[in-house]
Amino acid sequence: MTNTNEQVKGKDFYESVLQFYDRAASFSKLDPGIIAQIRACNSIYKVNFPVEVDGHVQVFEGIRVQHSHHKLPSKGGIRYSVYVDEEEVMALATLMTFKCALVDVPFGGAKGGVKINPRTTSVQTLERVTRRYASELIKKNLIGPGMDVPAPDYGTGSREMAWIADTYMTFKYGDTNALGCVTGKPVGQGGIRGRTEATGLGVFYGLRELLLDEPMVQKTGLTPGIRGKRIIVQGLGNVGYYAAHFCQAAGAIITGIAEREGGIFNANGLDVAAVFKHREETGSVLGFEGAQDVTNSLDLLEYECDVLLPAALENQIHEGNAANIKARIIAEGANGPTTQSAEKILVARGIVILPDLYLNAGGVTVSYFEWLKNLSNVRFGRMGKRAEENAMRRLVETIERTTGKTVTPEERLLIVHGADEIDLVRSGLEDTMI
Ligand code: GLU
Repeated sequence: MTNTNEQVKGKDFYESVLQFYDRAASFSKLDPGIIAQIRACNSIYKVNFPVEVDGHVQVFEGIRVQHSHHKLPSKGGIRYSVYVDEEEVMALATLMTFKCALVDVPFGGAKGGVKINPRTTSVQTLERVTRRYASELIKKNLIGPGMDVPAPDYGTGSREMAWIADTYMTFKYGDTNALGCVTGKPVGQGGIRGRTEATGLGVFYGLRELLLDEPMVQKTGLTPGIRGKRIIVQGLGNVGYYAAHFCQAAGAIITGIAEREGGIFNANGLDVAAVFKHREETGSVLGFEGAQDVTNSLDLLEYECDVLLPAALENQIHEGNAANIKARIIAEGANGPTTQSAEKILVARGIVILPDLYLNAGGVTVSYFEWLKNLSNVRFGRMGKRAEENAMRRLVETIERTTGKTVTPEERLLIVHGADEIDLVRSGLEDTMI
């Protein structure tokens, strides 16, 4: 069985994303040339740069892929992980294009990555690497408020975004739009309240909506409502933590938490905040009081539960374990956690999949408002608060509206086309706060 530690190669992930795309495209009446253009990554940039670490020069590999320039800027996070490779970033950038189109956020798709382990790297080195990577992208004119706007992803957060913004502003001194060069910044440095928890909150709204939809609830064989649902979460990062937190606050029971070092299970429920604290203190979820340790965290995905919430990395549910999944609902908090062959098995077994494309789109939806706010130079604390309330309301609306809209892979592309044809007019996003 693949472990999160032995991450599958980016090639497999990209192939899986293309398989989804090709299947969806086969339902489209668009010209094959257009289908090929939508499929291709528009630009791929790879750079090796030196950074001094403990008195020695170390070479780091950085990547930025802009999958689609059909709308500008392109948008997507920056991932820090030792598994980052070109094809992984291509796959993630491709997903961003469709994600933005699906939730009517007027961006093209992009993604970046640096091959680095943020957990074992000092803050000083992380800052140097981040600033140098940002400089490499800036000097090639690859990022900027109107071109390509990064955000946090696996292994990065508001701290890294603040470094990127600061580096950008140093290069582009005097550009009044400069803060819009990156989203997910700390609130005091041009960020927007609610962005940190937005992706997890969106996952919660999407799941809650599904469990209120009578035909879908019937399909799952579960009782309506999120209260009392047993949920196993993979990943206690930003997405997993907040998704689990909001589900728990709404009465769900978090019975399992899987992380890279192992998993824990308690049929009576785990307190998410307490597990998070325990991991901060001990470096591991294992050994949490009252819980059973599960040495191979991937085994936990196969435990009895109502909802499985993968919120870590791609390709976690694959041909090898799909038949053993007991959950009735898979809520895709991560990008691409289910391979196409696994999806076939799960769908044949009547398991409902809430696709990543919109379930985790809360992050980019709120990023859009952060970007708008930065562009207009709105002063925080004045119009700002209203703008932020509006952003959160729009997040709820976006996710709730989209939940009723898509469940099958072929529908994903059709909706993407719909969004492109109707463009922004349909989105309701243009009449926002400013
Ligand atoms: N990395 C996040 C994602 O995969 C956020 C992207 C953004 O806010 O631009 O959707």
